[in-house]
Amino acid sequence: MLLKQIVTCTMVLAVAMTGVCLAEPPLKALIVDGQNNHDWKNTTPLLKAPLEETGLFAVDVATSPPKGQDMSGFRPKFKEYDVLVNNYNGAEWPEETRNDLEEYMAGGGGMVVVHAASNAFPRWEAYNEMIGLGGWGGRNEQSGPWVYWKDGQIVRDTSPGRGGSHGRQFPVQVTVRVADHPITRGLPEKFMHGVEELYDRMRGPAKNLTVLATSFSPEAMGGSGREEPALMTIRYGEGRVFHTVFGHAPPQHKSVAFIVTLQRGAEWAATGKVTQPVPDDFPTVDEAKVRP
Ligand code: ZN
Repeated sequence: MLLKQIVTCTMVLAVAMTGVCLAEPPLKALIVDGQNNHDWKNTTPLLKAPLEETGLFAVDVATSPPKGQDMSGFRPKFKEYDVLVNNYNGAEWPEETRNDLEEYMAGGGGMVVVHAASNAFPRWEAYNEMIGLGGWGGRNEQSGPWVYWKDGQIVRDTSPGRGGSHGRQFPVQVTVRVADHPITRGLPEKFMHGVEELYDRMRGPAKNLTVLATSFSPEAMGGSGREEPALMTIRYGEGRVFHTVFGHAPPQHKSVAFIVTLQRGAEWAATGKVTQPVPDDFPTVDEAKVRP
């Protein structure tokens, strides 16, 4: 593993001449999973591999006990990592684990929220601040505004209604709304992600929230008829969160749009910067791309 990282770093060094890769240890990422109403056993490897392929991350996985079993011993060492990748949607964590996450994030930690991780912990106030927007679990207008994009700006709709829904899957296009953020810099203004289950009507505190990109949710597919947040960042204390609503199942994880935004979002959440170039196989305005 170490040899592979050095080889990867040397290649990066040779191409980019950054001079920093060999001088610094790789970043440490921790994927958190174990319970989810989605296929976490098959999506976690599809989160791990793209992060490792950047040459930037050494990746560990913390898997909780299964649903219905004693969670009291589940206490990942968040502080040993530069970024957490949250692939968890399940039972409440023990109080000490929740406190650990709050301290880690407030103190400058990083987290990537993937798809249904935004459905987790509807009653954990700090968690909802970290993820910005969430869905299901009884979320409604009391959870915060429905945030969407209209007429060139963000709308915070406080009218009553459910928090979180989705229509049928359809080919989802992404529109960048903040082009000068490290995660989106250099990406085309519009690009295809591919067939996905697009969340809509998400609600949450939406504090310190930046909507980097949106996707249109057609009413004809059972959606909201709105430009819904797709890629977001949230500032929580000194911590950084990158939230992607994408990643329903393994096919969506093979989309180049998903992979590249995951890689860039994870680096930004870990460091506040993005050093990765946009790859040649990045999708275009009308053509999604997938990797094997
Ligand atoms: Zn889903």
